[in-house]
Amino acid sequence: MKGERFMDTIKTETAGKQTARCPSCGSKGSAVKMTTLRSLIKKERQGRITVNQYFFCNTGDCNVVYFSEDGIQPFYKEDLTVRVGIKEDSPPRPLCYCFNHSLEEIYDEIKRTGKTTVIEDIKSRMKEEGCSCETRNPQGSCCLSTVNHFVNEVLLELGIKEDQIVDKGNKDCCKVK
Ligand SMILES: [Zn+2]
Repeated sequence: MKGERFMDTIKTETAGKQTARCPSCGSKGSAVKMTTLRSLIKKERQGRITVNQYFFCNTGDCNVVYFSEDGIQPFYKEDLTVRVGIKEDSPPRPLCYCFNHSLEEIYDEIKRTGKTTVIEDIKSRMKEEGCSCETRNPQGSCCLSTVNHFVNEVLLELGIKEDQIVDKGNKDCCKVK
């Protein structure tokens, strides 16, 4: 995988952030807080939480959602109370869990109007209402980078060039004040 092994040793860009590899697909996960697991793993399966640090697998076609560094007993899609939109092939595929935006909705809007208002909606509503990514989004972090990524993909796929709604750096809605 393109020299990623070297990156492993220096991947500590943000304080407290660590990474480990998914036992199923081998890609690097992002650290998630325990509150995210406690909020989204089905109650009857929470007894399987054995360590303090889990990581989220971001790979679309991998069934593993959370795994620990030792790779033992990962949590799969069916262990969660919500659908992990980026890991599903059929609707509904939620992308923004705080304000209920789905992949289908964004795709339809772009197809209909050539653009999407979802990113602005998320930004403005999180300012007014605040967001709860930590307890609602399986990624345990802001959905904006995922939404941005998807919007870009759709714009490319549909042959629309809309540079102004391409990500401009507000990657983390939780940090927008
Ligand atoms: Zn994986």
